[in-house]
Amino acid sequence: MAETLNKTNKPSRAEAEEAVRVLLRWAGDDPDREGLLDTPGRVTRAYEQYFGGYDIDPYAVLNRTFSETEGYDEIVLLRDIRFESCCEHHMAPIIGRAHVAYLPRSRVVGISKLARVVDAYARRLQIQEKMTSQIANTLDEVLQPHGVAVVIEATHQCMTTRGVHKPGTSLVTSRMLGAFRDNPATRRELMAMLQRPGIGAAAEG
Ligand SMILES: [Zn+2]
Repeated sequence: MAETLNKTNKPSRAEAEEAVRVLLRWAGDDPDREGLLDTPGRVTRAYEQYFGGYDIDPYAVLNRTFSETEGYDEIVLLRDIRFESCCEHHMAPIIGRAHVAYLPRSRVVGISKLARVVDAYARRLQIQEKMTSQIANTLDEVLQPHGVAVVIEATHQCMTTRGVHKPGTSLVTSRMLGAFRDNPATRRELMAMLQRPGIGAAAEG
């Protein structure tokens, strides 16, 4: 994959920690004071979580599918997949929810795999538009369903905590493929499913 850094070019942990020390100095503080001594180590370990998506092959995540579905051919929708990502322009958090749907042709995939594909793309440097497309395209290529829909709504801390400082804004993106793009009835059905209150919320009254 073009985006995956050649492992031989990957800096050492010591180099990464030194880079954090430079940024601490850039911020105006002293990386040698007691409170900051362990910070470079913590930050590099946190980076392994924030950017763990580079080590996950989303296609491999989906490689196990099931064909014994008793002819199930209605929409499969996993709503409200919470994710954390990182904007590639400011390296600021993007926090939001993804809704992932597909219309199976013959194969289905374990539902937790849908969430793992979201995480595989979220835990990288991203822009939301690209992440939306990547998730949809991957599902489309692997499952070859009648249609795929991905809707993402997220807040971008590069917009809420810096720059124009507009808290409360969220960005909504969607990518519709196949029947979700071409068939207005299928698209309407999806939109109705997305707008319905969750079963959990209904049970709570
Ligand atoms: Zn940004």
